[in-house]
Amino acid sequence: MGRFDGRVAIITGAARGIGFGVAERFAEEGASVAVVDLDESAAAEAASRLPGAKHIGVGANVAKAEDVEAAVKRTVEELGGLHILMNNAGITRDNLLFKMTEEDWDLVMGVHLKGAFLMSKAAQAVFVPQKYGKIVNVSSVSALGNRGQANYSAAKMGVQGFTRTLAIELGPYGVNVNAIAPGFIATEMTDATAARVGMSVEDFRAAAAQANPVRRTGEPADIAAAAAFLAADESSYITGQTLYVDGGVTLG
Ligand code: NAP
Repeated sequence: MGRFDGRVAIITGAARGIGFGVAERFAEEGASVAVVDLDESAAAEAASRLPGAKHIGVGANVAKAEDVEAAVKRTVEELGGLHILMNNAGITRDNLLFKMTEEDWDLVMGVHLKGAFLMSKAAQAVFVPQKYGKIVNVSSVSALGNRGQANYSAAKMGVQGFTRTLAIELGPYGVNVNAIAPGFIATEMTDATAARVGMSVEDFRAAAAQANPVRRTGEPADIAAAAAFLAADESSYITGQTLYVDGGVTLG
């Protein structure tokens, strides 16, 4: 028996990185997973690597309402329902404020905030009538402030306010809404940051490991463990919270 037997989960941005790690964990515990990502073939290939039940890959831009509507509809039709949504898709467009363009701002807000809004709105149309649903949003330690990330930081703190408000609105309908704020997780996103600041991936990860009390970088599996807890029924008295999964880096 897995914690997610008979459950259907949508995970956005799940073709790789943290999202794929969460998809693997949910699938191992019995869920059918819709891997949503920009590139449908990458999403389908990732879905084909998941263990267990039936999974699908869905090409969708979470910042586009028509894509989101179609992705949720297809998931419900092909996987037989919807019980869990993880809003994980994300991008960075880092720059100091004076160099940050309006496009950098709009793109980041579009994926993280509008994407989470559109996906959650579409999912609650399924969750509320069935009086059951779990939403796990992805914030970041950068919500607390990070040089060069005015857009990303604002979006990720916005995710925390969004999480608290949805928890208030949807709690009476059996829907829990929580967020995870990862610290440094070794993925292509952080590898790209290493390249941008002119460091090797190894040196960048080693520096990140030294910056936190547990002296290691995080892996997608670290976020997957927390996401599985927040998406499971055992945590149904927890809602509106942001769980920092960061090796203690925000402790000061
Ligand atoms: P990643 O490796 O870059 O993966 C992100 C995935 O999201 C990619 O497959 C990407 O597709 C997809 N995506 C981007 N825009 C999308 C859109 N509009 N619609 C659908 N999919 C989209 O990143 P990650 O490190 O796994 O990060 C996952 C989440 O964790 C993000 O929200 C990120 O901000 C957050 N986070 C990460 C860290 C970290 O240290 N890695 C720390 C804190 C928070 P393409 O490849 O086609 O662009």
